Amino acid sequence: MNLYFSGHGEKYAVEQTMLTLFPQERPVYPEGPVQGDNALDLSFSRGPVWTTARAVLRRDGGTFTRQCRVKTARLDQADPVEATRLTRRTLQRAFYLAAVDCLGTEPPWGMLSGVRPVKLPTRAMEAGATPRQAEAMLRRDYRVSPARRRLAMDCAQASLAVKKSLQPQEVSLYVGIPFCPTRCAYCSFISSSGSANKLIPSYLEGLLREIDAAGENLQAAGKTVRSVYIGGGTPTTLSAPQLAQLMDRLRTAFRLAPDTEFTVEAGRPDTMTREKLEAIRAGGGNRISINPQTMSDGVLAAIGRSHRAEDIRAAYALAREVDVGAINMDLIAGLPGDTPEGFRASLEEVIGLDPENITVHTLALKRGARLRQEDAVIPEGEAVAQMLSFAWDALREAGYVPYYLYRQKFTSGSFENVGWCKPGTLSQYNICMMEELHTVLSLGAGGVTKTIGEGCVKRLANPKYPQEYLRDLDRIIEEKTTYF
Ligand code: SF4
Repeated sequence: MNLYFSGHGEKYAVEQTMLTLFPQERPVYPEGPVQGDNALDLSFSRGPVWTTARAVLRRDGGTFTRQCRVKTARLDQADPVEATRLTRRTLQRAFYLAAVDCLGTEPPWGMLSGVRPVKLPTRAMEAGATPRQAEAMLRRDYRVSPARRRLAMDCAQASLAVKKSLQPQEVSLYVGIPFCPTRCAYCSFISSSGSANKLIPSYLEGLLREIDAAGENLQAAGKTVRSVYIGGGTPTTLSAPQLAQLMDRLRTAFRLAPDTEFTVEAGRPDTMTREKLEAIRAGGGNRISINPQTMSDGVLAAIGRSHRAEDIRAAYALAREVDVGAINMDLIAGLPGDTPEGFRASLEEVIGLDPENITVHTLALKRGARLRQEDAVIPEGEAVAQMLSFAWDALREAGYVPYYLYRQKFTSGSFENVGWCKPGTLSQYNICMMEELHTVLSLGAGGVTKTIGEGCVKRLANPKYPQEYLRDLDRIIEEKTTYF
C-alpha cells in the first residue's frame, strides 16, 4: 500500500494498523503527489483549538475519508511520551475508521494490534479502574468486539490474581528440548527431527552444565523458582532415563519444593510411554500437555503427524493411569482439511476426556512452515470464526474458563490462542510468561530469558539451533553468571 504522510512521521504505528487490517499489504513510501488506487493519505494538522488526523484511503475504486481530532491544548500540556501516544492513537483511529468503511467489517480485536491484549485491562485495573471501566476502555478506545472483551477481562482477572500471589524473589524457569520425532507441516519452530536427534546425548550433557551454572547463580542471588516448564520441540523425544536425569538435575540445582508447579510438554502422543510418564511423575512433574491438535485422522495426516487419533486416546488414558497430575490438551482451529463440523467433533471428544486445561489455538502459518510452500486448502477466516465461537460456548458450558491468551501474526482472521482451565487448575507459568509478570530464566537452545524490571523487559536469547548452542555454551554460561 502506498503511504503518504504530512504533519507527522508515525511510520511504525501506521504500519501496525495497516498490517492488522490488510495483512497481505506491505508499506511503500513513494515520492511526489498521492497516486494509485491502493493508497493512504494521512495528515495531522494543528489548529488553535483542535489538531486533526485526516485519513483518505483509496482502494478498490472507492475513496474513504475519516477524521479524528484531539484538543491542541491537551497535546501541548501532555508530557512528551503522552503527547506521542495521543498523536499515534488519533492517527491510527482515523486510518482504522476509513479502512473499516472500505472493508465493511471490523476485526475482532478492533484497533488492538499487539500480542498481549490482556495487558491493557490489567494495567487499567491496577491503576484503579473497576472491571467495568476497564472493559469500557476496550470498547470505547480500541473498538474491541464484545466476545473478545469478555475473554480479555476474564484473563485479566486471572493475571491479577496470580500477580498478587507472586513473591519478589520468585522467578520461573523454562527449559528447551528442541527435538521432535518428525516435523509437523504447519510448524516453523526450530526443532530438529529425524537423524538430527542423534545430537540428543551431547545436547543433554550441555544443558545439564547450563542448569548447574544457572542453579548456582540463582541461589547466590537469593532467587527461588515459582514454576518450571520443560517445552520444545517435544521433550518426550528424550528417553525415560534422559528425562529422569534432566528432572533430577533441575530439582537439585534449583532446590525445588515438592509442590513447585512443574510442567512437561509431552506434546506428541507417539513419543509417550509408561516409563517416560513414570519418570516425569517421579521427577516432580505435576502437569503435562498432550497435544492432539485435532481428533480427525484425515487432518492429522494432512498436517504430517505420523500417529492417529486412537494413539491420542491411548496416551491420555495412560497418563491418567500413571497419574502425572493436571493435563492440558491443545487443539488448533483452521487446520488444512478441517471444517467447523470436524473441529466441533474434535473439541467435543477432548472435552469428553475431561482434561484440566484445554488450549484452543488458531492456525498461524509463519515463514518456514511447510504448508506455506504447499498449496494446502486451509479453512477461511469465516469458518475459523465459527470454530472458535463454538469452542467458547462449549468450553464455558463444560465448566472451563479462559485464563490466558495471546495473539500471533499470520493467523487467519486475526484471531488468538486461548488457554481454558477448570477452576483452580490454571498454569501459573503460562500467565507469568505471557503477561510478563516476572523474570523467566530460559535454558537450552532457543530459550529467551526475560528479566522484568521497573516498566521494562530485558531479553537475553540463547542460540536457536542445538549445534550453535553447544558451540557457544561457555559464552552462554558466562553471560548468565552476571545476569541476576
Ligand atoms: S510437535 Fe510441535 S514443535 Fe514439534 S514439529 Fe510438531 S508443531 Fe513443531
